[in-house]
Amino acid sequence: MSLCDLSLAEVRDGLRRRDFTSVDITTACLDAIAELNPKLNAFVTVTGERALEQAAAADRRLAADEVAPLLGVPLAIKDLFCTAGVRTTAGSKILGPFVPPYESTVTANLLRDGAVFLGKANLDEFAMGSSNMTSAYGAVVNPWTRRGDNAQLVPGGSSGGSAAAVAARLAPGATATDTGGSIRQPASFCGIAGIKPTYGRCSRWGIVAFASSLDQAGPMGRTVRDCAIMLASMAGHDPKDSTSAEVPVPDFEAACERGVRGLRIGVPREYRSDAMAPEIEAMWQQGLTWLREQGATLVDVSLPHTKYALATYYIVAPAEASSNLARYDGVRFGLRREGADLQELYENTRAAGFGDEVRRRVLIGTYVLSAGYYDAYYLRAQKLRALILRDFTEAFTKVDALVTPTAPTAAFAMGEKMDDPVTMYLNDIFTVPANMAGIPGLSVPAGLDVSGLPLGLQVLGKPFDEETVFAVGGAIERSANFSTLPSLRAGALS
Ligand code: GLN
Repeated sequence: MSLCDLSLAEVRDGLRRRDFTSVDITTACLDAIAELNPKLNAFVTVTGERALEQAAAADRRLAADEVAPLLGVPLAIKDLFCTAGVRTTAGSKILGPFVPPYESTVTANLLRDGAVFLGKANLDEFAMGSSNMTSAYGAVVNPWTRRGDNAQLVPGGSSGGSAAAVAARLAPGATATDTGGSIRQPASFCGIAGIKPTYGRCSRWGIVAFASSLDQAGPMGRTVRDCAIMLASMAGHDPKDSTSAEVPVPDFEAACERGVRGLRIGVPREYRSDAMAPEIEAMWQQGLTWLREQGATLVDVSLPHTKYALATYYIVAPAEASSNLARYDGVRFGLRREGADLQELYENTRAAGFGDEVRRRVLIGTYVLSAGYYDAYYLRAQKLRALILRDFTEAFTKVDALVTPTAPTAAFAMGEKMDDPVTMYLNDIFTVPANMAGIPGLSVPAGLDVSGLPLGLQVLGKPFDEETVFAVGGAIERSANFSTLPSLRAGALS
């Protein structure tokens, strides 16, 4: 067994026991990256030298019996988090040459707690996508393949690089962000865990903005506990982000062991869609049975506005994106393409810098915010958003958490669902409601489909009640006992 196979909790504990050093585990991760990243394209930038310096510094602190939550633990960082002195691309050409002079609050918190950064993980351009195919730095390959079929599959998106890196054991954990499902859907596609915490739980300061009222940072790990450990470091109030909440950070790790005895678990009937594969339905029923066997009570609930969530999201998110992306004008940072006058400089820079999906979002966003259509689209979407939140608020008067599938399908092949953007957007059907409402959502690997691909279940909780979400996720994880290795890793190093 290689050090790369250890969970993040095992790495942390092994370092504390001096079973191995941070340089040992960091070297093991960098070796695995050197071997497998050419196949996976999970990292845009690998900061090997810097990682080994950070690891050596962590080893000195460990030798001095210092204790910090992540001391010496190597992580992958989604390339949407600004990292001081390390290129941050957001998966876009327009930020290609950008080296931030500052560190995002979330990554600064991880560094404060002793983490080592292996490099920057690939993603859909500006985190817009569900397949990682929109990255200007090339698609990421899912380390899983269908049984008896070599077709390359997508890892999901937008945090596809983070998910592939963790699933293929290039890193024990990774940071990610979720605006409409970008943590949970790739976690489900790659057979790992990931949580989008409550909006406001983690600071957005220094994270390249997509849709500011929806964006939220969170961790990805191979276990629920690993996510809990990372989230405890990432979270916390930050005066630099006015939407970051002034609430204490509880012991998320302990919550994973709480169990579900006496909990009421809601089963939203509107999530039973005709488009859902029968195996996803079967997996959902299986997960609910596990929870009942562990002492939870299942409650049928209704979230009547669910059917509007996707359409609402694809108005609100592009609207905010079109406004946020106005800053990429070639003047202050990033790519610049000169022109005869200022107008032409803007046009040339944006034409050279933005990919098709980003342009589509900017166009939709500008349209729904334009004077003639604002009331018909944007204002209406805001009203629906309030109704979606009200559905959840009402459901949570009856139940402690909700359990649903994470995505309507398992990972699909590269090139599939690419003809028509709406088919791609349908992937987000189960994940966007949590962003619209700001509530926490966790994806846990629950089993495999007939072709041997992982499927995830989603646990949704009350605002700032990630502890119950972790408790339910931990319970599903214990029953699922998911331990299959992705095809690539099973064939490569083990
Ligand atoms: N897939 C969704 C989108 O394309 C969500 C992306 C995200 O969560 N960043 O907008």
